[in-house]
Amino acid sequence: MLQKCIKCGKTYDVDEIIYTCECGGLLEIVYDYEEIKNRISKETLRKRQIGVWRYLEYLPVKDERKIVTLFEGGTPLYRCKNLEKELGVKELYVKNEGANPTGSFKDRGMTVGVTRANELGVEVVGCASTGNTSASLAAYSARSGKKCIVLLPEGKVALGKLAQAMFYGAKVIQINGNFDDALEMVKQLAREKLIYLLNSINPFRLEGQKTIGFEICDQLNWQVPDRVIVPVGNAGNISAIWKGFREFEATGIIDELPKMTGIQAEGAKPIVEAFKRKAKDITPYKNPETIATAIRIGNPVNAPKALEAIYSSGGYAEAVSDEEIVEAQKLLARKEGIFVEPASASSIAGLKKLLDEGIIDRDERIVCITTGHGLKDPDAAIRASEEPIKIECDIDVLKKILKED
Ligand SMILES: *Cc1c(COP(=O)(O)O)cnc(C)c1O
Ligand SMILES: [Zn+2]
Repeated sequence: MLQKCIKCGKTYDVDEIIYTCECGGLLEIVYDYEEIKNRISKETLRKRQIGVWRYLEYLPVKDERKIVTLFEGGTPLYRCKNLEKELGVKELYVKNEGANPTGSFKDRGMTVGVTRANELGVEVVGCASTGNTSASLAAYSARSGKKCIVLLPEGKVALGKLAQAMFYGAKVIQINGNFDDALEMVKQLAREKLIYLLNSINPFRLEGQKTIGFEICDQLNWQVPDRVIVPVGNAGNISAIWKGFREFEATGIIDELPKMTGIQAEGAKPIVEAFKRKAKDITPYKNPETIATAIRIGNPVNAPKALEAIYSSGGYAEAVSDEEIVEAQKLLARKEGIFVEPASASSIAGLKKLLDEGIIDRDERIVCITTGHGLKDPDAAIRASEEPIKIECDIDVLKKILKED
């Protein structure tokens, strides 16, 4: 188990606290896959409770007693027959990450990231966040007795997420800037070793998140979907999920791979633009803007990993408008009973758009990832809904309303 630069190949011990290679390249955690292959089988995995830690052999932990967990992962994979009919596709699933302990997939990354912090003996952890990372880190640091500092873009964090970060007892700091500015500031604190940084530039976070890929195979009874559609912000999650599928392939659990398809918002789509130019690097946005605050990111740090995932899987990248996002959010709630936050609905909006464009085939087996719970952003949901009907306490009026539709 080593940290390895994806650019120059240099390796580092896992106990070395660095976030990027000396050359500036991103790091990833690599394992001895032959050894893992000899240690596990589908049957041994199935004997354990489903969730991140079912896949222990694939995770960068030396001392199991140091694990910090709130029982994350094991989220439902819903078959969505009503949406299949609505959109005209053969087989559609939603992997609902809003069902995690703090309501987003970030918990999968934090259980591993904070466990690593625990193993390293770190006392102060921190992150920049559009909301969910801070909510999750605040919870896991509380559970492990660490100090937690979070930097948020003022006025741009959904209400539920802010309430969580504050209530779990983190030191919450709002900056007069956007997420990308906040990330630069916490990176500086990390360079000076004042905090252990738990943004997705930290490769250990992605190790937890790759279990989304594992669980999808597991829940499909070891079959692999043709396509996985993922909302993309800082681009860690799509990279992580791809790594999960690749590692299951490398250890003989599966023998096919899905097409990784990333969806961004129109007002924050540097990866989509790079993809359409067939480029390997992005041109950052200075002022990203979208209702989907969780993907309101102009300079995604994991862009090189995400683009590699998209290109090498034969996937795609597309952008959707705020209107398309809200429409998809409503559709998912009203057709399937699944309430997600706006960023999450971009995967559904992207599916619809790519079907219309003929990029996605109607008989593919498709999994859309919904990344966070709808209650995270009650303001967005209320704005998109009709006003409640108000009446006096009069049963006849009520009966009249019942007959309207
Ligand atoms: C963090 C987050 C994203 C973006 O994930 P990245 O790994 O930054 O691409 C999307 N949706 C929600 C709800 C999130 O919390
Ligand atoms: Zn390097």
